[in-house]
Amino acid sequence: MKKKGVYDYIFAGAGASSLQIVKQMLQDKRFKHKSVLILEENSNKTNDRTWCFWEEKSKKDWDPFVRCQWDNITFSSDTAELQESILPYAYKMIRSNAFYTYVYELIAKNENIDLTFEKVASFETQGEIVRVSTGKNTYSGAYFFNSIFDWNAAQQQSKYPVLQQHFVGWFIKTKDDCFDPNTATFMDFSVAQKGNTRFMYVLPLSRNEALIEYTLFSENLLNYAEYEREIRHYLTQKNIRNYNITETEQGSIPMTCYPFSRQNSKRVLHIGSAGGWTKASTGFTFKFIERKATELVAFLSDDCDMRLFEKRNRFWWYDLLFLDVLAQNNHKGSFLFSRMFQRNNPKTILRFLDEKTSFAEEVRIMRSFPVGVFVWQLIRRLMRSLH
Ligand SMILES: Cc1cc2nc3c(=O)[nH]c(=O)nc-3n(C[C@H](O)[C@H](O)[C@H](O)COP(=O)(O)OP(=O)(O)OC[C@H]3O[C@@H](n4cnc5c(N)ncnc54)[C@H](O)[C@@H]3O)c2cc1C
Repeated sequence: MKKKGVYDYIFAGAGASSLQIVKQMLQDKRFKHKSVLILEENSNKTNDRTWCFWEEKSKKDWDPFVRCQWDNITFSSDTAELQESILPYAYKMIRSNAFYTYVYELIAKNENIDLTFEKVASFETQGEIVRVSTGKNTYSGAYFFNSIFDWNAAQQQSKYPVLQQHFVGWFIKTKDDCFDPNTATFMDFSVAQKGNTRFMYVLPLSRNEALIEYTLFSENLLNYAEYEREIRHYLTQKNIRNYNITETEQGSIPMTCYPFSRQNSKRVLHIGSAGGWTKASTGFTFKFIERKATELVAFLSDDCDMRLFEKRNRFWWYDLLFLDVLAQNNHKGSFLFSRMFQRNNPKTILRFLDEKTSFAEEVRIMRSFPVGVFVWQLIRRLMRSLH
């Protein structure tokens, strides 16, 4: 219950992270009487994201929202060509609107949660209270969760490289059957690399519908026309000529080990991409948000200190070294991913990217790469941290 005009929790943004946390709070009776305010600037959120992730096929939690799933993946490059089953995992796709609508309906039924469409302008901690201002109103909360991503925080430093996973995707419908609905193209590096890490990502929704996404891991965005030109070229190469574009998607996901958690304070926690919950080496975020949401809901108590929530693990170091290499040699992505897929089982790779492998498995994966690539980066990194 809201006491003296102070919410227990205020969220900035009603995107993947805030809504996953709120959804989990609603399933936990410890939060039954907690008051929550969610401030969102966009009152018309629709299918602004297509979230893909892998998990055990037998897991059913996301099933009501899953639009498609695939048991097989392909990986292609100049040197590697493989198609493999990833069972017991499946690669799954959710269209964001289905998730937003579901959580908004849960919120509407719960009188302790207010969803207000106002843009957060600033916030300030005053003693044990956080004041959140929208210009129009000021709200008070015991804890504040901020999911507003701040590129400046990461870009105004040079210690950690900042790349982006950026892409344009076309949902297309073809006249003839062109796709295998059981197989997702995870990475197709057969496209011209042009000094970067560039690949195509193909997700069939049926035999004649697919999302085709031209994706880069690099520092700077391209002109919109270039992404589209590459998709058109790829379709022609695949002999897919007769199609309609039914929808488009564009995005940029931060890839950096910049420690966003430094911005946290006792009563303020940055969440989602804004909190560094995006896997820096891949841009995958959705399942990490799910995991962090579970940890956070278990962590919260009436007098917890948000500075104690985040813990750095060894995967942060692996990601940092990988990004160091890609930032300096942006053309190397195709080579590195090819080596990894040629020399390791895709299921082990998925567990590694999920940060669930053992140290022994990680050593085996590291041995896929020429020794010099990462050792040299490790030395440079250690030297830098001494200065
Ligand atoms: C197009 C796209 C596709 C993606 N696909 C995948 C994928 O397939 N798999 C995967 O794992 N990850 C994917 N990601 C990465 C990540 O999962 C998403 O970005 C995810 O939505 C991040 O959740 P979040 O809560 O951090 O941010 P968001 O979901 O972006 O939520 C932030 C919210 O804050 C609101 N907001 C912003 N500023 C203000 C303000 N001043 N006041 C109030 N509200 C504000 C925004 O409107 C938004 O609703 C994708 C990202 C994009 C952009």
